[in-house]
Amino acid sequence: MKLKIIFILFLTINIFASEDLKTKLDSELEGLMTKVIEWRHDIHQYPELGNREFRTSKKVADHLTALGIEVETGIAYTGVVGLIRGGQPGPTVALRADMDALPVEEKTGLPFASKVRTTYLGNEVGVMHACGHDAHVAILMGAAEFLAKNKEQLKGNIMLIFQPAEEGPPEDEGGGAKMMLQEGIFEKYKPEVIFGLHVTNIPNGVLLVKPGPAMAAASAYRIKVKGVQTHGSTPWSGIDPIMATAQLIESLNTVVSRRINIINNPAVVSVGLVEAGTRNNIIPEDAMIMGTIRTFDPELRKEIYDEIRQIAKGVATGTGTEISVEFDVGGFYPVTFNNYELVEKMEQSLIEASSGKFMKSDIPVTGAEDFSYFSQEIPGLYFWLGVNKPGVGLDAGNFGDSSEAAGNHSPYFLVDDSALDKGVKAMTYLALDYANQN
Ligand SMILES: [Zn+2]
Ligand SMILES: [Zn+2]
Repeated sequence: MKLKIIFILFLTINIFASEDLKTKLDSELEGLMTKVIEWRHDIHQYPELGNREFRTSKKVADHLTALGIEVETGIAYTGVVGLIRGGQPGPTVALRADMDALPVEEKTGLPFASKVRTTYLGNEVGVMHACGHDAHVAILMGAAEFLAKNKEQLKGNIMLIFQPAEEGPPEDEGGGAKMMLQEGIFEKYKPEVIFGLHVTNIPNGVLLVKPGPAMAAASAYRIKVKGVQTHGSTPWSGIDPIMATAQLIESLNTVVSRRINIINNPAVVSVGLVEAGTRNNIIPEDAMIMGTIRTFDPELRKEIYDEIRQIAKGVATGTGTEISVEFDVGGFYPVTFNNYELVEKMEQSLIEASSGKFMKSDIPVTGAEDFSYFSQEIPGLYFWLGVNKPGVGLDAGNFGDSSEAAGNHSPYFLVDDSALDKGVKAMTYLALDYANQN
């Protein structure tokens, strides 16, 4: 009985400590957000592709070091891990932000729009934070600042993960969450749970969670077709790989619509890249297509792989070409899974952080995330933060481009700064509340 009273007293003190810090964050939030927004604009203006986030990771490391946080750099090329040691014993909670941008030419017309250009897959391209990872970095830098300044009152440690190459590393390099794990960051810091967020074009300040399987597994495939080169005027004297490629594309589009059962598990097979030829009157020797496969069920994914192999075999026989198929090109992203118990446990924190604009969804998203590697190792919670302009887009949960607000990866994708405070609050509240509940 006595023990129970002491326990309740202990719990009450801890909850008070957590509530105190949350109130403190609320009172200091305006000042903190001025910095977060400034950081975000700076990172947005100088975006960097996966495994090349040199400037961004230096900015992060300098910031964490200045706050007196223990910092490790150069993990999986440009990754940064910081550890805030709390003044009281408790669990280690990991908070994650991804840092990389995309080969997209920015068309937002913002005063801090990116003018950066680089070479990607042999082509000169613009570089843009078209997925909003600039916001993720700035939000976590903000949460880190508050948590580090109040570390004496923290129960347990906070592990800050600034991850490179979420959008996929260059094919021959490896990288991202998988490589950070291979380099042993979880063995070293031993986090108990991990939280991550992603900005997207849903209403301003909404925090949205899909418990269980939340985002799809993603696998890139590549199909190479080899024919016999000849003059375009005498096609009978060669073997046309372009013709075979056209047949392949048509048949690939029947995998989901005709060949597999998707009643219980959605799937997507898309072609995103077609390459062949150099000139109007030459039938080339080679052609190549690449695309992506999105699934929520590993068995169904294997079935799709088999169907694609089958199609390739059939087209090769029918056209006389040689066709090879590769899957998981440049790596594979597993399903992003939100731990059911963790979602339930942390729901209240997200309700508070969003001032009631919390939503639970039962619709999985066919996008993919390498956060999935982290949440395969320990319980994870990954949620969406709405960054539409206030008043825009009331149909939360509708992913993809809409007429009112461009979606992630669009050259017109916009992040409204007024929503970012919900992100800082969410990350901070989750860390504080989890530590105090456990
Ligand atoms: Zn993205
Ligand atoms: Zn992203």
